Amino acid sequence: HRDATTSLVQIYTAETDLARIGELRRIVAEHLTNAVIVGATTVGEVIHGQTVTGQTVIGFTFFETSRATAISLTCAAGDEHQIGLDLRRQVNACEDQPIAGVLLLATPLSIDAAALLTSFETPPCPYQVFGGGAGDYAAMNQSAVFTNDDILTHGVVAVVLAGPELNIDSQTYLGWRPLSKEMTITRTEGMVVKTVDNQPAFDLYRRYLDIPDDDGFFLNVLEFPFLIERGDTVLARVPVAVDAEGGLQFVADVHEGETFRIGYGDPNLIISDAADIHSAAARFSPQSIYLYTCGCRRFLMQENTNLETLPFEAVAPTFGFYTYGEFFRRDETIQLLNSTMVAVSLSEGEPPPSAGVPRTIEAKTQDNSDPYANKHARIISRLVHFVEAVTSELEQANREITKLSVTDRLTGLNNRMKLDVVLAEAMTRAARYQEPLSVILLDIDHFKQVNDTHGHLVGDDVLVRVAAVLGGLIRDVDTLGRWGGEEFLLILPHTDLEHAAMVADKLRLAVGQETLPLVGPKTASFGVASHRPGDTATDLLARADQALYDAKHTGRDKVCTA
Ligand code: GH3
Ligand code: MG
Ligand code: MG
Repeated sequence: HRDATTSLVQIYTAETDLARIGELRRIVAEHLTNAVIVGATTVGEVIHGQTVTGQTVIGFTFFETSRATAISLTCAAGDEHQIGLDLRRQVNACEDQPIAGVLLLATPLSIDAAALLTSFETPPCPYQVFGGGAGDYAAMNQSAVFTNDDILTHGVVAVVLAGPELNIDSQTYLGWRPLSKEMTITRTEGMVVKTVDNQPAFDLYRRYLDIPDDDGFFLNVLEFPFLIERGDTVLARVPVAVDAEGGLQFVADVHEGETFRIGYGDPNLIISDAADIHSAAARFSPQSIYLYTCGCRRFLMQENTNLETLPFEAVAPTFGFYTYGEFFRRDETIQLLNSTMVAVSLSEGEPPPSAGVPRTIEAKTQDNSDPYANKHARIISRLVHFVEAVTSELEQANREITKLSVTDRLTGLNNRMKLDVVLAEAMTRAARYQEPLSVILLDIDHFKQVNDTHGHLVGDDVLVRVAAVLGGLIRDVDTLGRWGGEEFLLILPHTDLEHAAMVADKLRLAVGQETLPLVGPKTASFGVASHRPGDTATDLLARADQALYDAKHTGRDKVCTA
């Protein structure tokens, strides 16, 4: 290109033979002697907006005024943080011209790329960063990234694009829907999720999807990532392998305590989200578009992949590759994404007059006259919708059943079953941390008379009112419930016998002061006991019961301790 001061060549290739990659690069360098050359291995390639497989695609970008500087860094496992700092320092060293964006290519199967990207968090990253993890048709052991000078199987390469006239915009979208119930990551070791809901993590893929723990695991699981809500974005995380204990190895960060659902791509959602991104790209009026799109999207969309990629070509020449992870700037930090598409628009110089006016984009891949076209995509969309709807119905029903199973119907307080569970947990904590724990058992005095005089319904009303009085006086950490009949139990963590007796007396006064319609004032008797070393729940409750018995037999309307 005669007017170009800088040529950037991106080579994306299905080739994994490093010598052949070197040869490819040499031929390009011979014809474009000053070109900055970078590239990566792939699991699919995009050229002229068309998705292809098993090919090598070469994208040329000629800049009139901007500059491209390549950086390459080898990274041993464990050095990611340090290499990230090095990378950031080398990128910043190019700041004699304003940096518009940084293209990143890395090998996420052999290094922790997410850890490497943390160097772009502080200070915040003011320029675009985009790109992808090298893919690998041979399923995960032969990915590489390269520049004019290096070919790396463990590392990162970057191209700093700088210049006052360079404009870069990037967009991403996912298009995956949650299918499973919500689950919790209960134990992690680095990027391995060891357990989910306290079971070996792999179990869920066997249980829900019948995916075996064999050589094909990654290819089978690829389209069914964890969908994690982090902040206000949904991140997909794809496991790549299973360890000996049934733990799941990821290539991006996952955190203990995070909740997630297993998701699947919805072709209809993908196509409608894609339309938004196509319009955004058209409004930007780019001269060139790069796509970094997850390998799983190609497997999911099959013959419809072009519905996603081809409309970009109507906006500007479009090329890119199918990745093992995408890099994207959000909130001035760089995220490692899975399962998404990142679309990058570039233009140099004054935006052309058409900028801001969206062009009409038509995907030329479907024959709309054929009612059976896109059958695969439509069926998947329906099934995904179906499973999502069934899951949400079941979850709603489950929440209601769970609530019912722990609630006393009459008073709305916790029932005895729930009290048993809470007390058992409180006992364990009290024993382990040697913290005080007390219980208060109370029983309404001469309650039988209420029933005998006014009938059962009035009796019920008294129970409801006493429950409300008690409930209004307890702390958030305390647990109140109906123990049975006209007896209530209060569990007080972090509370010794003396303080529990004071609480009991406060409750006693409040119950006595409540005037009940028809019935007038009613009193109650209280037994208080505290946890002792070696106690079982039964021991503790027996002492509270004994104290209550003492209160009843020494005059009622009083608090006794044991
Ligand atoms: P005390 O002071 O010795 O505790 O005397 P009491 O009459 O309160 O004790 P007793 O155990 O003799 O009677 C408890 C009564 O509570 C008997 C039972 O019919 C009544 N009761 C238990 N559960 C309910 C209920 O859900 N609703 C109503 N209305 N009454 C109930
Ligand atoms: Mg009673
Ligand atoms: Mg009783």
